[in-house]
Amino acid sequence: MILSMSSPNLTEAELKAVCEVLETRTLSLGPKLRQFEEAVAAYNGATFGIGVNSGTSGLHLCIIASRVGDGDLVITTPFSFVASANCILYERGVPLFVDVDPVTGNIEPDQVIQAIHDLQEGGQQARRWLPPALRAKQSGGQLKAILPVHAFGQPADMMPLLQVARLHDLAVIEDACEALGACYKGQPVGSLGDAAVFAFYPNKQITTGEGGLIVTNNEKWAKLFRSLRNQGRDVFDAWLNHTRLGYNYRLDEMSAALGLTQMTRLEALLAARDQVASWYNERLAGSEEVELPAIVSNTSRMSWFVYVVRLKSRIQRQEIMKQLARQGIPSRPYFTPIHLQPFYRERFGYRQGDFPVAEWLGDVSLALPFSGVMREEQVEQVCEALSSATQPKSEAMCLATG
Ligand SMILES: *Cc1c(COP(=O)(O)O)cnc(C)c1O
Repeated sequence: MILSMSSPNLTEAELKAVCEVLETRTLSLGPKLRQFEEAVAAYNGATFGIGVNSGTSGLHLCIIASRVGDGDLVITTPFSFVASANCILYERGVPLFVDVDPVTGNIEPDQVIQAIHDLQEGGQQARRWLPPALRAKQSGGQLKAILPVHAFGQPADMMPLLQVARLHDLAVIEDACEALGACYKGQPVGSLGDAAVFAFYPNKQITTGEGGLIVTNNEKWAKLFRSLRNQGRDVFDAWLNHTRLGYNYRLDEMSAALGLTQMTRLEALLAARDQVASWYNERLAGSEEVELPAIVSNTSRMSWFVYVVRLKSRIQRQEIMKQLARQGIPSRPYFTPIHLQPFYRERFGYRQGDFPVAEWLGDVSLALPFSGVMREEQVEQVCEALSSATQPKSEAMCLATG
């Protein structure tokens, strides 16, 4: 039995839905896209849904809608998947990283408020928030948006972020790519900011193969998104009138049909993930060696994306991963903070120590195999392997030789 890090949850219904699309011969911009968009928007209590070909594409379009241009600033978190900051660079904007909360790993609102305050004051205080390589330059850019990420399926603390954004006329883009189904203080993520983006890569809560979807209540933005994803055409134009620079970010009909079927099964898919997370929680509770994922009281519903434990710092993560791998169990360090990715170090001059909480989390976090199709005995197998891998060295060696 081979364990994988993640696995999509598919049934006959999905196979049938995709084949039916092929039989219709309408493979792009057809009825499935509309239905899928409506299903995801309705689920999140949003007026508009716009399907795109990846979560990254969706984030890019939100950055364009926020009018981010040359040198403009967007406040975001360094503890995320690289796409949540790359989308800012696509428009030649500058990510202004703010460190994270040690419990949730989500952006720390007090620091966001401090950063905005300091930027307004200007001078030395403002410059310390900029990437090191840009501190000496006179930037003509403006602060345009806040881009919080709901990391691992747990909502960021949105209330203070929305308040400060309103005060300073900033857009709020939710990177909800890991969080379909999550709720913050009783409200679904995706209904909180000016727009939110979901992603449907095969490891996410629902999949379309590749794909993403933007939800928003802003009609102007919805029209802009529909135009931008389709080569910049006028929305109601039948043929080739390109009013702006656009992209091919369309989501095809097979993907939309797959996603629509997954949406009809969403509650079951989320429940299965909850169950697997509880099996892990039960078996790892009371462990001396690992800390379990913490869920804060603002999270009225967790939507499990990954199962990430924190190793007590004295333990060597590389060694544990090696020992797990020997027993056929994959695991991943999760995440290397974005500012320490080679490209960001080189371009922006970031160094170890710039965002200590994100770096600490990056050092101690370990993602274990996780999906809604894992069985209880597989969870058991992972936990047993983890327990033997985290034994103090001498004992582990006795076990190995004994
Ligand atoms: C998955 C993910 C994305 C991007 O999704 P793709 O569909 O792979 O482009 C963006 N942000 C975060 C936090 C993600 O986990």
